[in-house]
Amino acid sequence: METTKANEDSTCSINTPTSDLNKSHDEKISNSKDQVIQDSPEEKVTHNKQDSFDNSDKKSGFEGFGFSSELLKNIDKNGYKEPTPIQKAAFPELMLGRDLVGQAQTGTGKTAAFALPILERLKENSKRPQVLVLAPTRELAMQVADSFRCYSARDQKQKILAVYGGADFRTQINALKRGVDVVVGTPGRVMDHMRQGTLNKDGLKCLVLDEADEMLRMGFIDDVEWVLDQLPKERQMVLFSATMPSEIRRLSKRYLNNPAEITIKAHQKEACLIKQQYIAIHNSHKIDALKRILEVMSSEGVIVFARTKMITLSIAQSLETEGHAVAVLNGDVPQTQRERTIERLRNGRVNILVATDVAARGLDVDRIGLVINYDMPFDSEAYVHRIGRTGRAGRSGEAILFVSPREKHFLRTLERKVGQPIEQMVIPDNSLVNKSRVAKLKKRLITAAAAGREHEEEIDILQQILKEVQEELNLDQGQLSLAAISLAIGTNPILERGDESWLQQAFQKHRRDDRRDKRINSRRRNDSNPTSHEDQLERFRVEVGHRDHVKPSNLVGAIANETGLKGRMIGRIQIFDQYSLIDLPRGMPENIFKDLKKVRVMNKELQINRANSK
Ligand code: AMP
Repeated sequence: METTKANEDSTCSINTPTSDLNKSHDEKISNSKDQVIQDSPEEKVTHNKQDSFDNSDKKSGFEGFGFSSELLKNIDKNGYKEPTPIQKAAFPELMLGRDLVGQAQTGTGKTAAFALPILERLKENSKRPQVLVLAPTRELAMQVADSFRCYSARDQKQKILAVYGGADFRTQINALKRGVDVVVGTPGRVMDHMRQGTLNKDGLKCLVLDEADEMLRMGFIDDVEWVLDQLPKERQMVLFSATMPSEIRRLSKRYLNNPAEITIKAHQKEACLIKQQYIAIHNSHKIDALKRILEVMSSEGVIVFARTKMITLSIAQSLETEGHAVAVLNGDVPQTQRERTIERLRNGRVNILVATDVAARGLDVDRIGLVINYDMPFDSEAYVHRIGRTGRAGRSGEAILFVSPREKHFLRTLERKVGQPIEQMVIPDNSLVNKSRVAKLKKRLITAAAAGREHEEEIDILQQILKEVQEELNLDQGQLSLAAISLAIGTNPILERGDESWLQQAFQKHRRDDRRDKRINSRRRNDSNPTSHEDQLERFRVEVGHRDHVKPSNLVGAIANETGLKGRMIGRIQIFDQYSLIDLPRGMPENIFKDLKKVRVMNKELQINRANSK
C-alpha cells in the first residue's frame, strides 16, 4: 500500500493498492455511447441546472478522467467547473472498477465522486439493475437518486429509482419491472424487494454504501450485511462513511477487495464558518425566546429542531400566528408533502422549517443561515448533524442552542465534539426587539418609496384622497404621513413592552445552577462508587416478540429513528415469544414515550411500557 497526497492544498489522502490495477471486471473505461435511454420514474430533479450549456472553449476540470462528452456536458450544466478533492481522488479508481473506501462527510461532493464514474460505466440495454446504492434514510436515498438523474449523460434516460420505506410498494415494484439501471434505497426496503424477488440482484455490478456509519448508528448493519451477502461475487464495492468505527472497518475488510482508501478531512475553516451560541432558558420561556430571536436575527432560512412531533406542531402554530412563513417536517408528514416542503424551503416560499432530527436527516438546502436547537439533541453527533444544515456550500451560518439548567452539563460534551467553545448569548430584550422592528419598518417604507406605484390612474386617486383628508382635517404633512403609515402597519403596537424580567431570571437561575452543579460534581468526584452504565438505564417492555419474527436490529432501528437515540445508548435487549425487554436511558420525556407507543415494528405497535409497570 502506498499513500499519496491527492492535492497539495487539500486535506485529502489516498491509499491505493499499487498492484492489481487491472482488477477483473467486465467493463473498461469507455465513452458508453450506447447506454439505455429510458424515462426517469417518480421524483423530480431538484438540483440547480443552468438553463443552457455554455459551449465555450474553456476546458472542464473534469476532462481526463475518461468521461464521455455527454457526461462532461451535464457536469457543466450542473455548474461544476473543477472536481472537488474527493472527486479527483475517486474518479481514477472507480473508473478502473476498483473497490474504494472513502472517509468523507456530506458537503465534500462525495455523491458525484461515485455517481459520475458509475453512470459512465453503465451498460446498455440491461433489463436488470446494475448498481445498488444503500443509504440510511429515505431523504438521503432521494437526494442521491436526484443527483444521479442530474448527472445522467442521457438526460433523464438512464433509469434511476429510489426505494424506501413509507412509500408505496406497488409503484416501486412496477418501476422495477419496467427496468431500472440504478437502485438507491434504504436497507429495509431493499431487503424486502430482494426477499420478494422484485429486485433482481443477478445483474448487480456495483454496490455503494453511503453514510455507512449512519446506517450502523441507526441499527441497520445486520440488514446491510444481509444485502451484501446476496450480491454476485464479481462486483465493485464502494463504501463512504464520515467516521470509521471498528464495525465499519470490519465490514470493509470482509466485503471489499483490496480497496483504494481516500480520506477527506473537513476543513477547520468550514467548521468555523458556523457561529455557535447557547441560550440559558427554562422550558416555559422557550417559545417567547424563539420569537424574539426570529425578530432580531434576519436570517435567510431557518431550521428549528424540536424533540417530538407534538412540539414541532405547537412551535409552528405559534410562529404562524406571528406571520412567519413556516412549515413542519416530522415523521407524520407523508412523503409527497415532505418533498414539496423541502422544495418550498429551497425556493424561499417557506422560511422557517420546524423539524425533528429523524425527519431532517441529510437535508441539504443551501439557503439555511440559522439553526435553532429548540430542544437539546440526544447526543453530540445529532448536534453536529443539526448545525451542519447551515454553513453549506461555503456559506457562513449560525447555530443557537436552548439549554435548560438541567441540560447545562451537556454543553461541555458538545464543545468537545465540535472542538470550539459555544458562547453564551442573551435573549434579545425589548429594546433590541424594538430596534429591529423599527429598522424593518423603515426598510419596508424605503422599499415602497423606491418601488412607487405602477398605474398613473391609481397614483392620482391616492394623491387625491391624501389631499382631501389633509384639507378636511386640516393636517400638516407629518400628521398625514403618520396616518398613512399607521394604516399600512395595522393596529398592532410596534413596540414590545411585555414583561422582560424573565430574561434575567433564566440567566441568573442558570448561574445559580451552575454553582450547584459544580458542588455536586466535586462531591461526585470524591465518591468512590461511580454510577455504572446500568444505573443510567431503565427497563422497558414492548409488545413484539419472537412470534412476530422481531430481531434486535428492528427494535434498535425503530427506537433510534423515533427518539434520535444512538444505537449504543440502547442497552440490553431480550426477546421473548410475545414481548421483548429493552434497556433505555432513564428520564425519557413523556411525549417521546407516548410517540414510541405507536411506533410499529414488524407491523405491530410497540405499546412500550416501563417493565415494572406491567
Ligand atoms: P455532497 O457532498 O455529495 O452532499 O455534495 C455537496 C454539494 O456540492 C452538492 O450541492 C453538490 O451539488 C455540490 N457539488 C458536488 N461536486 C461539485 C463540484 N465539483 N463543483 C461544485 N459543486 C459540487
